[in-house]
Amino acid sequence: MDTTVVVGGGIGGLACAVALSRAGQPVSVLERQDAVADAGTALGMWPNAMRALDALGLGDEVRQIGVPQTEAVFRRPDGRLLTRIDTTRRLSEPVRLISRGALTKLLLGALPGGVVRTGVVVSDVDSLVRRNRAVVGADGINSVVRKQVFGVPDGLRYAGYSAWRGLVAGEFGPSGETLGRGRKFGVTGVEGGRTNWFAPVFSPAGRRYPEGNMPELRRLFGDWCDPIPEILTCTDESDIIRHDLYYVGPPLKSYVRGRVTLVGDAAHAMTPDLGQGACQALLDGAVLGRCLATMTDAEAALKRFDSLRRKPSQAIAATARLTGALTMRPGFAIARDTLLRLAENFATLSNRGWSSTRS
Ligand SMILES: Cc1cc2nc3c(=O)[nH]c(=O)nc-3n(C[C@H](O)[C@H](O)[C@H](O)COP(=O)(O)OP(=O)(O)OC[C@H]3O[C@@H](n4cnc5c(N)ncnc54)[C@H](O)[C@@H]3O)c2cc1C
Repeated sequence: MDTTVVVGGGIGGLACAVALSRAGQPVSVLERQDAVADAGTALGMWPNAMRALDALGLGDEVRQIGVPQTEAVFRRPDGRLLTRIDTTRRLSEPVRLISRGALTKLLLGALPGGVVRTGVVVSDVDSLVRRNRAVVGADGINSVVRKQVFGVPDGLRYAGYSAWRGLVAGEFGPSGETLGRGRKFGVTGVEGGRTNWFAPVFSPAGRRYPEGNMPELRRLFGDWCDPIPEILTCTDESDIIRHDLYYVGPPLKSYVRGRVTLVGDAAHAMTPDLGQGACQALLDGAVLGRCLATMTDAEAALKRFDSLRRKPSQAIAATARLTGALTMRPGFAIARDTLLRLAENFATLSNRGWSSTRS
């Protein structure tokens, strides 16, 4: 009954296990895949996630490996600049872009051997509750723990868009997004001199492309400004990932039932428009681990976790959804571009005003 069992060895589950293990607490991670997944593309680690990584003792390694993002450039499909955001002036430290594989490897490397058991599909959460101190549902967007324990058989809503993602060798200019009507194409760096791209497109759920993803990507983005056509040319069809995007909705009233709690996507899967899903999963894991390690009563520790993390994570999820609606919905395209251009003009004017006071 001393052990905390974590269902799912993704970013959130591993973060929680690292926090507990570093505090000398017994923890076991059950992962259904035969190996902990390292597929996927780049993840942007915002300063909030860097603080969680620091608490886990991994911040400096991520700073070393990750590519710092110093600006974000927003353009129209014809290449016209909408706005350029200097992230170094707005954030306490730059966002670090790191591949899911590299981040997973760091988290796994911080755990003693035997903590993670792969090839174990959890289907009966109650039996885990009976045998363990606490059960952490870190089993992602289609969480079995959420369905079985929280009485929400589905609990997901379709965002209205799906996204293609890929990784290519080579560097293709500044990070940022090119915004069209009902679709956008984003580019970021990632370690190893590679480029991560993502292309969300407004479409009905369940749409399939029997002729492959690339012909559709070329139809949608082939005539957009550089470097998008070149990135598509360099991408191998077999490396493309595509997902319909869902989020947890309505938001859960609590992340806790007795000695069971949810973290990461299981608790608050969000649209990827802020690049915060994995950041929030890391924060959940680090905070939950600390609560369980410092409080003897498991139920009280989980309640404390809920009071610290539910509202902030749900606020980020709501902001991500709003950002998605404003940048993706075809009807908002003109207003969106005007707002971004105004922001750009305002930034230019403010810069001029500042330099003129110094001349
Ligand atoms: C297009 C896109 C771009 C994104 N970009 C970013 C970004 O830049 N920055 C960012 O922070 N986030 C980003 N995200 C979000 C991020 O990928 C997720 O939020 C994050 O991976 C969630 O981590 P998790 O540990 O909660 O869940 P997951 O990573 O889904 O892990 C869940 C784990 O549980 C296992 N599992 C499931 N069911 C069971 C079971 N019954 N028994 C045992 N094991 C089970 C799974 O195999 C899996 O390993 C993006 C997402 C998308 C779709």
